[in-house]
Amino acid sequence: MHQFKMCDSCQEEYQDIEDRRYHAQPNCCYDCGPTLYYVDSHNKTITDNVIDYVKRELKLGKILAIKGIGGFHLACDAKNKEAVERLRIRKNREEKPFAIMCKDLNTAYNICNISADEEKYLTSFRRPIVLLEKKNNKFDYISIDNNYLGVMLPYTPVHYLLFDDELDVLVMTSANIKDCPIIKDNEEAIKGLMEIADGFLLNNRDIHIRCDDSLIYVFEGSEYFIRRSRGYTPFPIKVNFEFEDLLSCGAEQKASFCLLKQNYVF
Ligand SMILES: [Zn+2]
Repeated sequence: MHQFKMCDSCQEEYQDIEDRRYHAQPNCCYDCGPTLYYVDSHNKTITDNVIDYVKRELKLGKILAIKGIGGFHLACDAKNKEAVERLRIRKNREEKPFAIMCKDLNTAYNICNISADEEKYLTSFRRPIVLLEKKNNKFDYISIDNNYLGVMLPYTPVHYLLFDDELDVLVMTSANIKDCPIIKDNEEAIKGLMEIADGFLLNNRDIHIRCDDSLIYVFEGSEYFIRRSRGYTPFPIKVNFEFEDLLSCGAEQKASFCLLKQNYVF
């Protein structure tokens, strides 16, 4: 946060041991904190009422790139089949399922069958995408020939602001360009995603560590990883044996490997 120089009142809170913001670096102050802005397809920047603007665009069926914690999402109204199909064409992704983000747990319950264990993982602070069984075929254009949907709940303040009663399910798919690392910089996103996104919801806080959404499924109460990332990494798994210098490589998952140090698996 060092690039956001605190204004006088924030600095005062930061230094006051009796203040709840004592030594709290996260800063959402209007004067000195990070700001949201929107860049449209003509490279015009909008700074006023950004969230209202973005919601209007999503309701019109636009595809937007939204900056998150460890990268960008491509988002559109999941209930707008035409928008989702346009996203498939632009992303050159004919059949692969898209993840969705639901406004809240109730919205997710309307779409999928959710067990108590699945609810526990879905609502955990780690906020992974959880594979859940569909209730009906309503979202078959999001996951084709598949009984499951990847569902997550909002996990940044901006996500919470995007939803309302009319806009309660969004397709939120990682905005990565094929065969390239996760995009993390604003300029890179605008340049790389211009052909896919109709607009960009950005902020002026830089991403330093790329991180994709984690993807799990739940079996007999335990979580199983399809992608172990945001919320879980780099935290190691503790095992009950010790070993030095062991490398193991995934046979199936691309670029999947782990290193063992004592009884920690990274
Ligand atoms: Zn301030």
